[in-house]
Amino acid sequence: MSMKSNILLIYTGGTIGMKQDPETMTLVPFDFSQILEEVPELKKFVHTIDLHSFDPPIDSSDIEVKIWMDIANLIKERYEDYDGFVVLHGTDTMSYSASALSFMLENLEKPVVFTGSQLPIGMLRTDGKENLISSIEIAAARDKDGRAMVPEVSVFFESQLYRGNRTTKYNAENFRAFRSANYPSLADAGIHIKYNIPFIRYPGTWGKELAVNTNLDTNVTILKIFPGISPDTVKSILSTPNLKALIIETYGSGNAPTKQWFINLLQEAIAKGLIIFNISQCLAGSVDMEAYATGILLKRIGVIGGNDSTTEAAIAKLFFLLGQNADILTTK
Ligand code: ASP
Repeated sequence: MSMKSNILLIYTGGTIGMKQDPETMTLVPFDFSQILEEVPELKKFVHTIDLHSFDPPIDSSDIEVKIWMDIANLIKERYEDYDGFVVLHGTDTMSYSASALSFMLENLEKPVVFTGSQLPIGMLRTDGKENLISSIEIAAARDKDGRAMVPEVSVFFESQLYRGNRTTKYNAENFRAFRSANYPSLADAGIHIKYNIPFIRYPGTWGKELAVNTNLDTNVTILKIFPGISPDTVKSILSTPNLKALIIETYGSGNAPTKQWFINLLQEAIAKGLIIFNISQCLAGSVDMEAYATGILLKRIGVIGGNDSTTEAAIAKLFFLLGQNADILTTK
C-alpha cells in the first residue's frame, strides 16, 4: 500500500503567514499561495499538499465561532478527498479553536493538526518551518492498515504533539509556547516521530460517518476568583443578559471564598437555572470539591466540578453542550 497521503493545509492567519517587509521592517502577511517560495522543503514530500486560505487571513485574536464553523464545514466538505488536515492558526487562541473543533467534529477518523509559529515563516530563525513540516508528516502518517496514526484534533508545537483540548498557550515568547499539563503528549518529534499510542484516541469502530456539530451557544462567561472580589463584581457578572453557564476559576483544587454573600449569590443563580462549572486557576491538577470545606460548600449548592479541564476546553465544551441542548450537565 502506498503511504503517499493527500493533505489539506488550511491557512486561517496568524504569525506563521507573515514576513518582514524589508523597507519598513514590520511584519506583514504574505500571499500564502506563495508558501512554496518561503518553504521550498515542502516540494520534497511524497504527499500531495493542497492549500485552502481564508480570505482575509485573520489574527487569531479575532477568532469567532463563525470561523470554527467555517473550518469544521470545510473539513466535512473535503473529508473524503484528504487523509489529513493541517490548520495553520495564530497561537493566541489556538487552544480555544482546537478545543472547539474537537467537540464539533464527531466520529473523526483523520488527523486535524493545528499549528502555527512564534516567529513568522519568512524570518530566518522561524520556528514555523519545523512546525509546519512535522505537522504535515503527522497528518500524513498512517499505520500498516492505512489508518491514521493520530485520528484526533491535536496541536503540534516545538517537537510535541498534544491533544488539542488539553492545551494552553502558556509562553508568549518561547518557541515551546504550549503545554498540556494534564495529559501526556501524543507524539514526540525527534530524529524519529515517536507516537504515544496508548494515549491517542482511536475510534471504537472505524468507518462511521463524520458528523459536524455547528450548533454552539455562546451564552457562557468566566469569573476568575481573587482575594478581595466584591459582591458588585459577582453580581454584575451574574446579571449578564441571557447567561446560561458560568465558569468559575477557583483556587487550587476548586476552592472559593466561603463568605455568605458569595455562596448566596451563586446559590440564587443556580436556583434560577444557571449552570456553574468549577475549574482551577492552577495549570496542572484537578478540581476536587471534596478535598476542603470550601469546595464542599460549592458542591452542596449545585456547582459542577470541571475536573482537570483547561479554561479553553471548558468554554468550548459549554458552548457545544448548550448548543446541543444537552441534558448531561448534572451535579453527579
Ligand atoms: N497574534 C498572533 C495570532 O494569534 C500571534 C501568533 O500567531 O502567534 O494570530
